[in-house]
Amino acid sequence: MADDKNSWTEERLEKLRALWDKGLSISSIGEELGVTRNAIAGKAHRLGLKKRQSPIAAKKQAPKETVIEEPEVLPLRLALRKLNWSRSKCAWPSGDPKHTDFNFCGQPILTGKPYCAAHCAEAFTTSRDG
Ligand SMILES: [Zn+2]
Repeated sequence: MADDKNSWTEERLEKLRALWDKGLSISSIGEELGVTRNAIAGKAHRLGLKKRQSPIAAKKQAPKETVIEEPEVLPLRLALRKLNWSRSKCAWPSGDPKHTDFNFCGQPILTGKPYCAAHCAEAFTTSRDG
């Protein structure tokens, strides 16, 4: 461990930053500096360097807010686009939009209405009486 500290001189840190900026892989930087890729990943993390494209080790160590994961649930708009929703089908939402099983009714709509007969009835009752 003392060895590790000694190996990180200012010069070497500069080199690490430079190589990092160039986009070299963690293992390549490690080879350049003669240390393990773990040492590079750990140092880069401590220095707050930007995350690399495939930093498996860094991902484990990185704080949560820097890990941008694809949301599992698409926004409603995108969900509709993905379904290529037909205007002739009832778009009454069914299920919880926060869950992946969220869907739309899909029954044929009443002419001139956005929903099927059952959901039209429900929509009008709720909006008028509620
Ligand atoms: Zn419906």
